[in-house]
Amino acid sequence: GASMALTLAACGGEGAGGSGGAGGGAEAEELTIGVSMPTQTSERWIADGENVQQQLEDEGYTVSLQYAGDDIPTQSQQIDQMITEGADILIIAAIDGTALAGQLENAAANDIPVISYDRLIRDSENVDFYVTFDNFEVGVAQANALLTGLGLLNADGSPGTATGPFNIELFAGSLDDNNAFFFFDGAMSVLKPLIDDGTLVVKSGQTDIEQAATLRWQQETAQQRMETLLTSTYNDGSRVDGVLSPYDGLSRGIITALTAAGYGPNLDSPNPMPVVTGQDAEIASVKLIADGVQSSTIFKDTRLLAEQAVVAATAFAEGNEPEANDTETYDNGVKVVPSYLLPVETVYADNIQSSLIDSEYWTEEEVASGQ
Ligand code: BGC
Repeated sequence: GASMALTLAACGGEGAGGSGGAGGGAEAEELTIGVSMPTQTSERWIADGENVQQQLEDEGYTVSLQYAGDDIPTQSQQIDQMITEGADILIIAAIDGTALAGQLENAAANDIPVISYDRLIRDSENVDFYVTFDNFEVGVAQANALLTGLGLLNADGSPGTATGPFNIELFAGSLDDNNAFFFFDGAMSVLKPLIDDGTLVVKSGQTDIEQAATLRWQQETAQQRMETLLTSTYNDGSRVDGVLSPYDGLSRGIITALTAAGYGPNLDSPNPMPVVTGQDAEIASVKLIADGVQSSTIFKDTRLLAEQAVVAATAFAEGNEPEANDTETYDNGVKVVPSYLLPVETVYADNIQSSLIDSEYWTEEEVASGQ
């Protein structure tokens, strides 16, 4: 897709418009961009879809936005249909990063550049660009937030006064999402040495990503696994001190299980809520953080990600290659996909105001009400 667009541009080719393919140097007004999002069950993807659509429309593009309800065949079908209906560029956040090779072949055959959005599409050479956050760094930040909550680290990164040992449990995301591995590997790069020296004890012994994984990032699945861990591993009077959770939805399921088992209500209680991490700054979790129940989350400003997707789409529309800031990290099994990575920020109770409210990601009222 991308190289064909370049060739067309070099030859002064006209925008293909409805016939598929971004062509080179086409006007935004002539182009339709298909935007495929995974699910509406998590608010970040709703915001992602709205932001991408709005920003593309502001540039003059026509947008076809579809949500796939976390169903793989639905997403494949929606992308096929976007191609049939003449999409010129595709922006895709995959449910299962390995399931779209057929659709991408179809896109390539129609000279349609494909931008992988947030999650890397794997096992296909027809992924032209990747816009995302620094996913390994997300995992590192989650692990550091866990250590900070436990008092092993100070907020400025210097060693804290606590010594441990602390009992922790590990959760990971959905194994069909490439990001889940980056989050877990990033976190383990920090935690593993402390597990090895006994400062941290994963009492269940479940330290492999396969054991920690949560299919489709489902809150109920995480809640059930936490319930099982509590009854199987902590029925001897021992307590859980911390839980590595890679996503706010999972964190809330984990907190529900912990609350039912008598922990909390918050981090300052006599039987304190364990230190639970998160990701996405979902509003329900931001309120829990403000209330001292959840310890932290990782803020990824999806408005900036949408902006990068639009920048990349515009480069393709003009017959250029988008500018990457990372060309080494994201090997999708067939090729290293040129990427644009955005930075992330850790949020605790004391920087909700400066990180989330001052940047107008959430209002004070939303944080207060949790919705
Ligand atoms: C995203 C996370 C999100 C998770 C669950 C991941 O691919 O990068 O931001 O928490 O999916 O939706």
